[in-house]
Amino acid sequence: MNPIVVFDAVTRIFQVRGSTEAGTAPGARIVQALDRVSFAVREGEILGLAGESGSGKSTIAELMAALQTPTNGRVLFNGEDLAGLRGAGRREFHRRVQMIFQDPYESINPQHLIRWWVEEPLEIHGIGARADRLERVRRALAQAELRPPDAFLNRYPHQLSGGQRQRVAIARAIVLEPSLLVADEPVSMLDVSVRAGILRLLRRLRDELDLTILYISHDLSTVRYIADRVAILYQGKLVEIGGTDAVMRTPLHPYTQALMSAVPTLVVAGPRRPRVLLPAGNGSAATTPSCRFAARCPHAMNVCRQREPLLVELAPGHAVACFLHSEAAVPQPGGRA
Ligand code: SF4
Repeated sequence: MNPIVVFDAVTRIFQVRGSTEAGTAPGARIVQALDRVSFAVREGEILGLAGESGSGKSTIAELMAALQTPTNGRVLFNGEDLAGLRGAGRREFHRRVQMIFQDPYESINPQHLIRWWVEEPLEIHGIGARADRLERVRRALAQAELRPPDAFLNRYPHQLSGGQRQRVAIARAIVLEPSLLVADEPVSMLDVSVRAGILRLLRRLRDELDLTILYISHDLSTVRYIADRVAILYQGKLVEIGGTDAVMRTPLHPYTQALMSAVPTLVVAGPRRPRVLLPAGNGSAATTPSCRFAARCPHAMNVCRQREPLLVELAPGHAVACFLHSEAAVPQPGGRA
């Protein structure tokens, strides 16, 4: 499969207020949300992106949707650097890449009818006459399994359940017939009872509409359910990436192993892994070259505190950044999987 999006050694640094660190503006603090992250999203796949809060998942989502720009490195969409997109090319990109957000209560304006809410992107992009737009809205609602669509057109968000509101958000995302959906924790605010339905819907839409989906979640059980491949982030570093079955059955990075051991609903072949309890905290600050997980890792070695492990492919398509598997690796920027 061809890559539709490529992250090429992407670093994202923020200055946040409220620090007295030397070398920053008064009251500012430097936060490195991503550090030389390289990976590709392949056309037609669902790539799951998992990690704890603060790992950089949402920064990747916003970079992929061009809502942010990299501090260093490049984000390519169909081979084109997003930094160079202007005018009509940029508008077309914003039609082809749509986001689904975590909170359907926040992402839908409660003052507008569902019909208005789903139609608005068509108006913004100047697509179709009014009658044609209404037909597209009906089709998108039906594709999001809000049937019959006419029963939803003239309702307000507060008249819908949480699951129905997230389906409206999905209808709004697909009404523009995009190529890529970036779904940032799309089920985490929903009742457990409706999550599976939304995940099934996303998978069906991928198949029927030839979509590519980046599915972001802290919950590995939902990633396992929906994703073809999975990438694991820790403190802004990509630490493992591979086919979902391979990563879930044979997690190689100690952080992935800890995440996996904490998933109670996961059913995998073979004996259940013992729970790996990690020390609290976010690990070592990246002030010197080292593995960022070293302070929490039960297998940390001296080399882990002196050098930074590279992402190395150990089996076809399955790569990990850990000296347990690549002790001889020499640190260098990037390393794409
Ligand atoms: Fe643990 Fe070292 Fe591997 Fe980092 S490189 S995950 S500290 S063993």
